[in-house]
Amino acid sequence: MSDPLELLRPDLRGYAGYRSARSEARAGEIWLNANESSGANASDEDGLLRRYPEPQPGASGEALSALYGAEPSRLMIGRGSDEAIDLLVRAVGAAGRDAVLVARPSFGMYAACARLQGARLLEVDLRSDGNEFRVDLDAVRIAALDGGATLVFLASPGNPLGEPISPDEAVALANALAGRALVVIDEAYVEFAGSASVVGALGRAGNLAVLRTLSKAHALAAARVGCLLADARVIAALRRLQAPYPLPVPSARAALRCLAPASLARTRASVLATIEERERVRAALAGCAGVRRIHASRANFLLVEFADADDALSRLGAAGVVVRDLRAMPGLDTALRITIGTPAQNDRMLATLRATVAA
Ligand SMILES: *Cc1c(COP(=O)(O)O)cnc(C)c1O
Repeated sequence: MSDPLELLRPDLRGYAGYRSARSEARAGEIWLNANESSGANASDEDGLLRRYPEPQPGASGEALSALYGAEPSRLMIGRGSDEAIDLLVRAVGAAGRDAVLVARPSFGMYAACARLQGARLLEVDLRSDGNEFRVDLDAVRIAALDGGATLVFLASPGNPLGEPISPDEAVALANALAGRALVVIDEAYVEFAGSASVVGALGRAGNLAVLRTLSKAHALAAARVGCLLADARVIAALRRLQAPYPLPVPSARAALRCLAPASLARTRASVLATIEERERVRAALAGCAGVRRIHASRANFLLVEFADADDALSRLGAAGVVVRDLRAMPGLDTALRITIGTPAQNDRMLATLRATVAA
């Protein structure tokens, strides 16, 4: 197995990063090292906000490691998976030379970060497979090798489209790209997919990484808590390059509370309810005359193609129902993405679409 640290930008390999006061502090009683205020703000009633937070909050880190089934040394907590995506693009690819490979269509953040970094973007079309779309892993391997990709982002399951990638498939791709690219499997929706997480296979390839988030199934999007899981050497290197205090104290506390057994049990129940509701909405949409196609979904949304998407969008808008217009995405020129809401919200959305047909 080749050393995954060789995938890091050469100029960053030996770099110790910024040393914050908090990261250097060891033990003491009177903390006068970080220019914090000596008293809490009048509005900060429990005095939680006066001091800089731990760079990687220990308690939340342990709880997240337990949740995902990985050693704490394999985990980096960030300000949403978005921060990890940006950090990876900056740390792994040299501007103007290296490429980032993504599936098409896929989550827009990968391309946005690549653009900001000045990295080339390589796109590989999803392969249609009956009513399902999949990542064409052979095409990804070939395009990554031919195009000089140092980073491959694949969402599993995909957003807005795409079946999950199995741990074996992820390992095979990573092994084929060993020494060349870091393969990142973004599992933002894996809780809804019922498929095995790639986290369990991280030990089989040093150049394999997984993104997880509390934003979707755990309903904490505003807290901005996401994780990168990878080889412990890669995590240690990235932590040195990460912003000094990525996780605000209220967010770390929210994460810890959401990982308590009682709230985890409720999260599991709400994931199951969302899946059931998704299938109910799917069946109802299939009966709407203006609906041309409902794509397979293993997540908390449905990607729907309309005979007249303009009309559907304007009527939904007039009824106050906001959906995501994806018509600018390649191959999706009649598609809207509809997040599964509460049953009452979904019923309103459905009633609006039925009225579209009747009108
Ligand atoms: C929503 C989403 C995320 C989550 O990002 P956070 O920054 O953790 O909120 C990541 N990847 C994909 C594919 C998503 O759709």
